[in-house]
Amino acid sequence: MRKRFTIAVLPGDGIGPEVIGEAIKILKTVESHLIDVTFDLTEYPCGAMCYATTGTALPEETFEACQRADAILLGAMGLPSVRLPDGREITPQLDLREKLGLYCGLRPVYLYHPSDTPLKGYQAGEIDLVIIRENTEGLFSSRSANNSADGEAVCDILRITRKGARRLFRAAFELARTRRRRLTLVDKANVLPSMAFFRRVFMEVAEEYPDVSTECSYVDATALYLVKCPHRFDVIVTENMFGDILSDLAAGLVGGMGMAPSADIGDEAAVFQPAHGSAPDIAGRGIANPVAAVLSVALMLEWLKHPSTIRGAAWIREAVKRIFENPNLRTPDLGGPLRTSEMGDLLAKQIDQICHVSTT
Ligand code: ATP
Repeated sequence: MRKRFTIAVLPGDGIGPEVIGEAIKILKTVESHLIDVTFDLTEYPCGAMCYATTGTALPEETFEACQRADAILLGAMGLPSVRLPDGREITPQLDLREKLGLYCGLRPVYLYHPSDTPLKGYQAGEIDLVIIRENTEGLFSSRSANNSADGEAVCDILRITRKGARRLFRAAFELARTRRRRLTLVDKANVLPSMAFFRRVFMEVAEEYPDVSTECSYVDATALYLVKCPHRFDVIVTENMFGDILSDLAAGLVGGMGMAPSADIGDEAAVFQPAHGSAPDIAGRGIANPVAAVLSVALMLEWLKHPSTIRGAAWIREAVKRIFENPNLRTPDLGGPLRTSEMGDLLAKQIDQICHVSTT
């Protein structure tokens, strides 16, 4: 009997549909080599264009499908030209995180080839870290607060709860245990009471994990260290807004947003999406880098925790590794000539080869 996984696919806006097309191509390639699992994929409307045409960014039917699905695969949401009356962009991906309790934002950062980093002297694999971003509290929790301006001032609140921080830190320690057992808390405990509290809760949880070495680092200093010595980091755990900023910085160390996958994970549901936005500056031209979306599929397959999907995730990573050994095989964001679909085709072919060798 084949295990059937239901995947809700939300391609979204801008380059979202373009990179999701390649991610699905890769998922189907993996599926073709697995005898005991299938993926049931259905696309749903969501995002800025959906808001512009229907007046809602996350339709009820889409949300219900996400609740029913085993996993959610998302492209990118939001367009600068489509805004709420107060000027903010449309961000249903943030609503999904809050509504589904996806508190753990996982952002792996891995250097596949020395030519893709602006830093000198780093070999493949020497930048290998994961940023865990708190996803449901922090400064972003102010985004839906009713703190409208009186014409003179606006105040956004950085909210940290013991429950939210504990579950986040536990996830971070558990991940560190599967890696190099080193966890860095990034905060601003020297200035903000919320961050001093965040650090206190971190210290409490750390006592449950004596096998993981820990350090605390201020967010401003961490920005410096990430550029000067990224190899020092294994797992970083941080507040929502700090994680938002540092994960883009870290993506820049390994080739940019096109190389940055992500997963937003809760206790019962998870969304997998490239860490980048809808990139309207390159949308519709067929030149977006699909690797971040493809690597997000690998995160999804791992999270589904079936022996076959875990094998599929390893095939995808190995395929990216092999393609990236040749620095000429790149999309334009990394200085190469490949179109989005050509990168997808190469990866699919590489997976076929990996599977062919492993079965002969
Ligand atoms: P958001 O705030 O929604 O995350 P953003 O403002 O961070 O979005 P992005 O859409 O991620 O912006 O784009 C930032 C830059 O990176 C843009 O110049 C964009 O063209 C580039 N970029 C993002 N994703 C890709 C990709 N997959 N391939 C190539 N370039 C990309």
